[in-house]
Amino acid sequence: MTDKETEFVKEITSKSEDFSQWYVDVIRKTELADYSTIKGCMVIRPYGFALWENIKAGLDKRIKASGHENAYFPLFIPESFLNKEAEHVKGFAPEVAWVTHGGNQKLEERLAIRPTSEAIICSMYAKWIRSWRDLPILINQWSNVVRWEKVTRFFLRTTEFLWQEGHTAHRTYEEAQEETLKMLDIYQDFVENDLAIPVIPGVKTEQEKFAGADKTYSIEALMSDGKALQAATSHNLGQHFAKVFDIKFLDEDQQEKFVWQTSWGLSSRIIGALIMTHGDDSGLIMPPRVAPIQVIIIPILYEKTKAEVLQKTEELSAQLKIHFRVKADTRDEYTPGWKYNEWEMKGVPIRLEIGPRDIKNKQAVLVRRDTREKVIVKEEELPATIENLLVDIQNNLLQRAEEFRENNTYLASDMEEFEKIIGEKRGFIKAYWCGGSECENKIKERTSATIRCIPLSAEEDGKGNCIYCGKEDGTIAYFARAY
Ligand SMILES: [Zn+2]
Repeated sequence: MTDKETEFVKEITSKSEDFSQWYVDVIRKTELADYSTIKGCMVIRPYGFALWENIKAGLDKRIKASGHENAYFPLFIPESFLNKEAEHVKGFAPEVAWVTHGGNQKLEERLAIRPTSEAIICSMYAKWIRSWRDLPILINQWSNVVRWEKVTRFFLRTTEFLWQEGHTAHRTYEEAQEETLKMLDIYQDFVENDLAIPVIPGVKTEQEKFAGADKTYSIEALMSDGKALQAATSHNLGQHFAKVFDIKFLDEDQQEKFVWQTSWGLSSRIIGALIMTHGDDSGLIMPPRVAPIQVIIIPILYEKTKAEVLQKTEELSAQLKIHFRVKADTRDEYTPGWKYNEWEMKGVPIRLEIGPRDIKNKQAVLVRRDTREKVIVKEEELPATIENLLVDIQNNLLQRAEEFRENNTYLASDMEEFEKIIGEKRGFIKAYWCGGSECENKIKERTSATIRCIPLSAEEDGKGNCIYCGKEDGTIAYFARAY
């Protein structure tokens, strides 16, 4: 590598030196996103938006395959609607943005810019649902929401962000609970298989649950700096919203009943999770299934053979585009070395190098981003080899992340041990907890670690004494410092 080329990579702070700066450097240098002139809001640039579109496509397919339909509801929520469910409004009040004027005219009633859409959607469900035959209603919405944040970070916490929110209504509690867990499963399947991020499915504590829910479930991931991130949530809303919005139906037994509801969401913060799970000192590593570009072709150009190599590049690009997301970098002003660095930084899973000697030998060189392993492949075998390599990279990324999580999950048997782990290594800490919010709060005060979830697999770990108060019959909970 020439000095200039090394310089280029050096502009990313090393991950071990300063993780937060590394995160910002990677996002800005790879052009995923940029700061905007509006405080707390970011601009998602084309490379970042292509990633979001692939994420959206993968999840949307699953949402539809499980019987849901997409719809769109207004951005504005009348204040009186938002105020109906007491817990809900209390939970969101500090971060709601309000519209007070239409043009120059002061509005009679303030309009909230949706922080989430339960209120507006419930007001419609009250109109649409009459009989048990109208149930279930299974609707999803892809949209933007606004939550006024004081401290913001690219993708992880911004005042406006993108997400999907599902809102369903059911005839019985059992059906709603089944739906809640089904969606949690779908999120886990998507995040693990498409994004290669392993997660722990579990239930949130009373304090950490969604404002207005009966129960909140989440999938929790561990980032490579040892902090946890909530990757998606699924709520059983019970009948809280049905009662305040008067969503009733006439059941088969001629009794009028309130519906049972769920809501569930995954947001663009998942991009932050993807960056922090897989990225390294050289930049991003994109899981092949959602990578905006899966194969980057880099021609090795010399004056004498330039025309021939460019022609081959075009030919290969056209041929491979049928199967994969491919781009050929034929820019004249950069050396191949520069381009290797740039696309490596952008996390493209496979680099294909083609030069005059390769053409003569009817071959190409493939380099994978995750292991940097290099293979020489016969031209006719390229599509099959690339296909296998992409599967291999996808699997390897998940496996690496699983190993990291395993190596950074600890069982703490007393508070001293707990504090030592959280101070020195972070990671997930498994510990028995009595279920009391007093212990939960004390642990949080002492360690800044919160209960991420009570894993659905908790019974495997049996019962034990609460790590804080020592009370018997505690269940295992996952603790961590979190984003
Ligand atoms: Zn306790």
